[in-house]
Amino acid sequence: MRVLVTGGAGFIGSHLVEALLGRGDEVWVIDDLSTGREENIAHVMDDPMFHWHYGTVLDRELVAGVMAQCDMVFHLAAAVGVAYVVENPVKSLINNIRGAEVVLEEACAEMKKVVLFSSSEVYGKGNGLPLREDDDRVLGPTAVSRWSYATGKAVDEFLAFAYWREKGLPAVIVRCFNSCGPRQTGDYGMVVPRLVTQALRGEPMTVYGTGKQSRCFSYVGDVVSAALSLSRHPKAVGEVFNIGTDEEITIEGLAKKIRELTSSSSPIVFVPYEKAYQGGFEDMKRRVPDLTKIRSLIDYEPSLSLEELLVLTINDVCRRLDVPTPQGLPYASSSGFFASASVKKA
Ligand code: UDP
Repeated sequence: MRVLVTGGAGFIGSHLVEALLGRGDEVWVIDDLSTGREENIAHVMDDPMFHWHYGTVLDRELVAGVMAQCDMVFHLAAAVGVAYVVENPVKSLINNIRGAEVVLEEACAEMKKVVLFSSSEVYGKGNGLPLREDDDRVLGPTAVSRWSYATGKAVDEFLAFAYWREKGLPAVIVRCFNSCGPRQTGDYGMVVPRLVTQALRGEPMTVYGTGKQSRCFSYVGDVVSAALSLSRHPKAVGEVFNIGTDEEITIEGLAKKIRELTSSSSPIVFVPYEKAYQGGFEDMKRRVPDLTKIRSLIDYEPSLSLEELLVLTINDVCRRLDVPTPQGLPYASSSGFFASASVKKA
């Protein structure tokens, strides 16, 4: 296959690119490096099957030119991270809505299959747990930027459904729940690499709110494998799927676990939301995906426990910070654990 990955230099995108190249595909990437990093794809730059385009998905000519050469597109180029979106509301809305608009329009002109990466943010505050794909969405007021992220992503989903129903464009939508793993940075809010970095540096570990809110963290390799399987499944077209795990942990529990695994003596400090984000900020108390739908279609089982995922991430952050791996960290790399945690060939 010849595949376009928008946002291919990002955290999830770069893992997807690797998996596609690994299965013998030819891959084109468009990325404006706004939150992506060239370092994420440096190791594939010289691969003759890899084609790099530094640019934005708002550039219609660029998107059209690359789309014409490809069989399908994975659309991941978007503003990510609650902290980033709250700090850059205009750029985030424009990139997320207009970007998807351009990609879907150009894909439709060529009738190329689209896999649209959406987010569990679209559920907003949620309407009961676990969150099912057909649940009602519950959002707060328009004056609070967080909900613009949820709304922008929902508009992308509406557009994908509209192109499928009205024009027959084959589109698959995936909603990712707190993906995590190597290459994720804490620069845009993501709690796991932030807490790991703080713990390794001996800095205070910032837990927002009471820390009683909980999340389910999924391994990026599982997200990529699932998206690849769905991209090939004929019954996935015109459908939306949760991708995540249902192993839940409070953020305070997460901070304690990371502190223990890194043998850190960092204090855990509680930061009020209005200091961490902006006044009026609202957080979800819990966010757990219902995985019934994805499991009804593909063989989907998270391959790592939360502890294994944290160890993998701690190792990656150590490498990036150029500090030694903490003594006593379980699953030494020689045990083969890291090899088994690499992205499965889908
Ligand atoms: N969070 C935290 N400390 C941080 C960053 C985030 O306590 O330094 C909290 C955040 O308020 C949320 C959870 O961790 O309750 C997950 O945040 P993240 O931005 O990773 O993802 P979200 O679930 O908000 O999309």
